[in-house]
Amino acid sequence: MSDSVGMKRRGEVELGETLVEVNGLKKHFIDNDGILTNISVDTGDGFPLKYQPKKVRAVDGVNLTIEKGETLGLVGESGCGKSTLLRTILQLLEPTEGNIYFKGTDLTSISKDELRDLRKDMQMIFQDPQSSLSPRMRIGRIVEEPMEAHGLLTKDERQRRAKYLLEKVGLDPSHYNRYPHAFSGGQRQRVNLARALSVNPDFIVCDEPVSSLDVSIQAQVLNTMKELQEEFGLTYLFIAHDLSVIRYISDRVAVMYLGKVVEIGDTDTIFDNPQHPYTKALLDSIPVPNPHRRGERGVLKGDVPSPLNPPSGCRFRTRCPSLIIPEGFDFREDEWDYTLSFIRAVKRRDFTFKSRDKVVERFFDGTVPRGDAGSVIDNALIHIENSDWQEASELLTEAFEEQSICARAEPQTYTQMEDTGVKHKTACHLHQT
Ligand code: SF4
Repeated sequence: MSDSVGMKRRGEVELGETLVEVNGLKKHFIDNDGILTNISVDTGDGFPLKYQPKKVRAVDGVNLTIEKGETLGLVGESGCGKSTLLRTILQLLEPTEGNIYFKGTDLTSISKDELRDLRKDMQMIFQDPQSSLSPRMRIGRIVEEPMEAHGLLTKDERQRRAKYLLEKVGLDPSHYNRYPHAFSGGQRQRVNLARALSVNPDFIVCDEPVSSLDVSIQAQVLNTMKELQEEFGLTYLFIAHDLSVIRYISDRVAVMYLGKVVEIGDTDTIFDNPQHPYTKALLDSIPVPNPHRRGERGVLKGDVPSPLNPPSGCRFRTRCPSLIIPEGFDFREDEWDYTLSFIRAVKRRDFTFKSRDKVVERFFDGTVPRGDAGSVIDNALIHIENSDWQEASELLTEAFEEQSICARAEPQTYTQMEDTGVKHKTACHLHQT
C-alpha cells in the first residue's frame, strides 16, 4: 500500500490477516528494593538461606493475535500490566520469555539493525501530547523527524509529506512553522498522529491517547483516528481507562488482570455478554445512573494484588465474587455467598465487632452454615472477638478460599466459548469443559 506522497510499505499483510501474534509473552522485572537481595546467610545447619531477588511478574504469559486493519482495545485496572505489555510488544522492553511475531517475523530473534528497520512500521502514541512534542521544534519538523531518522525521502519530499499529513489529521498545513505551544491539547495529539504516520506504519500502539483531552475533543480525535485507519489500513492496539472510549474505538477487546489476558472477544460480546467474573465486575464498576443495578454483585472491591506475589491458581480469586465453592463442604449457594462476603469483610476489617449475634445477623441472616463450615466460622468469630483479625482471616482463607479449585489450579488459557462464537475466549474455571 502507498499513499499519495509515495511512501510504500514492505512485507505487505492483507486486511484481516494476522499482523501481530504474541505467544507466551512474559515480562518480569527484578525488584532490588532490599539489601538482602542475592545474599546467602549461614544458618549453621549446613543449609544457608539464600535470598533471591524478587520478581515483579508484570506480564506473565500473554497470548493474542491482532489482525491487520482492526483495533484491539486493552482494558484492566491500573497495575494490571497493560502498558508493560504494549512496550514489550514493541520491544521497548526486552521480553523475559515468549515470542512476538510482526508480519511473520519474530521480533525477539532478529538483530538490532533489523529491529530498527522494522520499528518504522510500528509506532506509538502516548497519553500526554504536550510532553511528547519538543517545545523548541516547529510542528513541521516534528512530523519530518522520524522520516529523516529512517533516511526516507528527500528534504523537499519530507516537507511535502509533512504538510500532506498535517492536513490529513485535521490541521492547517500552513501552520507548518508554528511551535507546539500555539496548539490546543487535541491539536497537539493530532501532531503526534501525523508524526506517527509520517513513516507509513502498519501498526500504531496507543497508550491512553485521548485520556488527557476534554470529552468533546476526545470524540473528534477518535473519529479522526478511525478515518485514518480506514484510509491507511492501520492497525491499532489501544489502551484507555475510559471503557466508553474502548467500546467506541475497538473491534475486539482484551481484558487484562495481573499480567494475564483473562477474556478476549468482539467488542459487543465483551460488553453485552461478558463471561469472566473480572470483566463483569469491571463493567459493573462503570458508574451508570440505573437504580436497578444498585447493590448488584460483582462490583470490584479491594486492590489488585502485588505482581511480586500473585495469588495461586486464578489470579482474580482473592477478589472474585464467583469463587467456586471449595470441595468438602456442604454449602448451599446462599450460604457460600454469605461466607465469601464474610471472608472478604474480615480480610479488609471493614466492620466493627459488637457481638457474635450482630455479626451473624449481618453476614449470615442470623444463622451460620451447618456442619464443619459453621465450626470454622465460629472459631473465626472467637478470634475476632479477641481482636485477632489476622488469625481469623488466615483461618477462613485457608479453610475455604484456598481449598477452592480457583486457588488450586490455574484456569486453562482461553476456553472456547461455544455458545458465543469462535472469537470469544475466557480463562475461568466456571467455563472449563
Ligand atoms: S477461576 Fe474462579 S476465581 Fe477465577 S474468575 Fe473464575 S470463578 Fe473467579
